[in-house]
Amino acid sequence: VLASNGALPTPLPLPTLNGHNSNSTSDRLQIINDQKQFTSSLNDQISAWSLHDVGFDYNLVAVFGSQSTGKSTLLNRLFGTNFDVMDETKRQQTTKGIWMCRGRDMNVLVMDVEGTDGRERGEDQDFERKSALFSLASSEVLIVNLWEHQVGLYQGANMGLLKTVFEVNLGLFGKKSQDSASQRTLLLFVIRDHIGTTPLANLQATLTADLNRIWDTLSKPAELQDRKLTDYFDLSFTALPHKILAADKFESDVRTLRGRFTDKSRDDFVFKSAYHKRIPADGVAFYMEGIWEQVQSNKDLDLPTQQELLAQFRCDEISAGALAEFNEQAKPQKRPIEAGNVAIGLGEMMRSWRSQALSRYDRDASRYHQGVYKRKRADLTGTLDSTLLPLFVGQLKNLHKVALVSFKAEVVAGLKVDGYNFADVVGKARAAAEARFSDGAREAVVTEGDAAWQWEEELRLLREEVRSVADILRKDETKKMINTIERNFKKQIAEPVDLQLSKPSPEMWDNVLRTYKGSLAKSEGSYLTKARSFDCTDEENDEALTTLRQRAWAALRAKVDEQTVDAAILTKLRAYFEEQFRYDEQGVPRVWKPDDDIDGAYKKAKDATLELIDLYAEIVPNDSELEYTPPEEGEDSNVPGLIVFSETKMIELGARFRREADAHYVEAKRSTVASIAQ
Ligand code: GDP
Ligand code: MG
Repeated sequence: VLASNGALPTPLPLPTLNGHNSNSTSDRLQIINDQKQFTSSLNDQISAWSLHDVGFDYNLVAVFGSQSTGKSTLLNRLFGTNFDVMDETKRQQTTKGIWMCRGRDMNVLVMDVEGTDGRERGEDQDFERKSALFSLASSEVLIVNLWEHQVGLYQGANMGLLKTVFEVNLGLFGKKSQDSASQRTLLLFVIRDHIGTTPLANLQATLTADLNRIWDTLSKPAELQDRKLTDYFDLSFTALPHKILAADKFESDVRTLRGRFTDKSRDDFVFKSAYHKRIPADGVAFYMEGIWEQVQSNKDLDLPTQQELLAQFRCDEISAGALAEFNEQAKPQKRPIEAGNVAIGLGEMMRSWRSQALSRYDRDASRYHQGVYKRKRADLTGTLDSTLLPLFVGQLKNLHKVALVSFKAEVVAGLKVDGYNFADVVGKARAAAEARFSDGAREAVVTEGDAAWQWEEELRLLREEVRSVADILRKDETKKMINTIERNFKKQIAEPVDLQLSKPSPEMWDNVLRTYKGSLAKSEGSYLTKARSFDCTDEENDEALTTLRQRAWAALRAKVDEQTVDAAILTKLRAYFEEQFRYDEQGVPRVWKPDDDIDGAYKKAKDATLELIDLYAEIVPNDSELEYTPPEEGEDSNVPGLIVFSETKMIELGARFRREADAHYVEAKRSTVASIAQ
């Protein structure tokens, strides 16, 4: 006993495929209702049938034939579907529309067309034509269902329907373009209630003759005049016995026929790849809806355009999906980079996001129209790269900053090490900084070839900044070095010069200048030795040496001035005078007697002492070899030249000294008077 819908009471003994849910796979969907409206839930239903992501790995079959010829009954048996079957006890009229089921345990979409006998019932043939057009645009196999007794009835309803199919086919696939695969379709004739007195071969011959007759009477466009039926269709014929009168044979023959839909290894397997309409499963819903809209509005159905529209829609969708996931990955890196951090392994991450997005896109979109697929891929690539580029640019900026900071730190640390060589320290640090930057920049490049991102300009800027930082550091170091040399110089001259100036002698300035020149030569030498490691320019060396000479001279003059301030020089004069006047040649203090020549001695000592003022007044050596021309004064310093005392100063010092000498003279005179008085 069969169920009322014609399905077998028990599941067919078929291998069960993993991974799909029998609840959802047994769903059926009216994709076009009797109002000729296309369903909005086909895409979801395809997902529920677990077919959304199978790509081209699915097949599509539809059925044609007069009403109540057992079409639905046949489909249910062949594919394990549950299309409505007319209840014989009620004999109700089935509605118009197209239903779809998923074949049980097989990746097959099955379409059952209801109410396609408008011709017989004298109704308009609009739906008949539209459903034929619609089915042909998507199906690989069309099952043409007919009673045995309809065979040879050339004027019968079936033949009219076939004429429609052929006409429609010419419109759809007639103008084959060279590049598109030949759009062949299999017409599988199933002759029902075959009694057996007429062999199938005869029936087949009759049908074939009829089909060719129909083909010949079609009005074909001029350029398709010599096309044959077999240019577009493969024909296959089979017969089934009476379902009730030969029930067992009917069931076993149906089972055999089912094998032609399931067993890929059979020669007469019906789903040959040449029949596939090359619509990826995830685009079937959109494609069919588009086809139906065109059919409904009676527009010329241009399949290449439909496929291109489908490709545009789906490629955009797939691209948007890939991009959304990509953005999710890229987003968390944006802020740290904007905040100035170098993202470790950024290039690897970016390349991985990018290739993931592209392969996600490729996986789903490459099944669509190649021109569209490639164009949208280029768009997607452009969007990906323009999202990544700011990260790259930010990374470069941060790498630059980090490299410069580490350069400074490395140089500063290097200059703390005793006996450093400035040029070596800077050279090493510079190389390290450039390598750090270049490695990081190279790592972050995502694009290749001519489109490869550039970072040479940023490297050039880094080099420039490193150079100017090095210059500043070098100038600081040079300054420090000159200060050190100056300090040493001062130390060197302090004692010898003090010594010379405290004890006036005719060679006093010769000795002072000898000391001075010797120390200065040493200082200059030690500057030049050190400066060699600084990569200083000649100009910088000249400048440094000039500074050094100015400072040396200023140091000497400071010493001289220290020894010749009023109090100091007067002390020296006083000491000298006293030595001459108050002590005799043996250094014994004189005791003046009344007949001593106090006047003569006084005059002699005074004149000799006054000569000292001339000696101290100008730094002039006896030996002309030792003569020295002081450096020109620096802009901000105010160091005097060789003159120690001006004319006025000499007169003033002379006057002050005379007063003191006079006091000594008076005292000497008084002491003789006193000795007489005793
Ligand atoms: P459809 O309108 O073409 O889909 O036909 P149905 O599958 O609904 O079947 C219409 C009627 O024909 C039902 O009562 C079926 O039981 C009956 N039927 C189905 N298959 C056969 C068959 O092979 N031979 C005969 N004589 N009746 C059939
Ligand atoms: Mg039916």
